[in-house]
Amino acid sequence: MDWIVAPPPQASLAVVGQEARFPVRRVWCVGRNYAAHAREMGADPAREPPFFFAKPADAIVAALQQGEVAVAYPPKTTDLHHEVELVVAIGRAGRAIAAAQALDHVFGYAVGLDLTRRDLQHAAKAAGQPWDMAKGFDESAPCSALVPAADWQGQDAQIALTVNGQARQAAAIADLIWPVADVIAQLSQLVELAAGDIIFTGTPQGVGPLLPGDVAVAQVTGLPALTTRVLPRR
Ligand code: MN
Repeated sequence: MDWIVAPPPQASLAVVGQEARFPVRRVWCVGRNYAAHAREMGADPAREPPFFFAKPADAIVAALQQGEVAVAYPPKTTDLHHEVELVVAIGRAGRAIAAAQALDHVFGYAVGLDLTRRDLQHAAKAAGQPWDMAKGFDESAPCSALVPAADWQGQDAQIALTVNGQARQAAAIADLIWPVADVIAQLSQLVELAAGDIIFTGTPQGVGPLLPGDVAVAQVTGLPALTTRVLPRR
């Protein structure tokens, strides 16, 4: 095959204990999937269910097995925010998947950051415009190595984020409004899920700013920690 320009590199994630990598096809994200976070964003979780948005696959910044990444402070913002999230990797395709079968479609789990230009998001909301430039910018999705689903029992897991050693976000995975099975069931009504799709499942309360020089450590019980160093703006 001849290409007019070089084809893009395949975005991918490391897999704990394996040489082979997981190819990332699409990056789906859930908005407002923890009630306390929905409230801190000014929403009413009793009236507005969670919803979906997306990032480009090459927004992924994949951690090595050691769990460290570095990202440049992004352009056109003065309010970069952290959102720690459980990430689900789809290993088997499906559409209109029943919640009872949904976990059969999961390859594995990781911890990620849904980095957000909060000032651009507020402006987009106020103008009734899409969120893409608030959410889908370069290096906006740092992500740890994946743990295969058979090796992670997540029902009792905690999710947490520290910045420079200070606690910022903490919750129980059990607090998800849509648990992982429901996220897959709902999303697969809207699009046909494919092997390689990953889903950021939503952030708990405590989102806040990151500055150049900050070091954020994202953790979910039983998954590799993800350390993200924020570099100066390029
Ligand atoms: Mn998020």
